[in-house]
Amino acid sequence: MLNAYGAGWRMCDVKAYSMAELPKEGWWTPEQLGLVQDRSRQWILRSFEPSDSVAFLLAGQTIARKRELGEAVSPETSVTPGGWDHEHCSLCWQKISQLPGDKGCGYTDGRDWVCRPCYERFIVPRLGKP
Ligand SMILES: [Zn+2]
Repeated sequence: MLNAYGAGWRMCDVKAYSMAELPKEGWWTPEQLGLVQDRSRQWILRSFEPSDSVAFLLAGQTIARKRELGEAVSPETSVTPGGWDHEHCSLCWQKISQLPGDKGCGYTDGRDWVCRPCYERFIVPRLGKP
């Protein structure tokens, strides 16, 4: 079984897959399987750049998330400039950030991120297929 980074994976293997053999992991959630099967997603290789995060209290706990572009902030919400400092690969949870030791770039469709090895292993073989 291949690990998340596809040990032994070679780009020339891509064309060898038929529809029934398209690579996937047995432990994926329906959302992860849907992500690789959704042909409408446009994946672009990008360098991750930190953005602002917002934090707010919910049921006594502080919840932080990425601040969307142009998002208005309520008085109960605190903004941390550059506080959203990483994303995770949606398929293997590899950290994508500019922090030392992390992968600095990956593929994104503007919503989710996928690391380069997962993109090459799971999405490239599906490109151009119905
Ligand atoms: Zn990955």
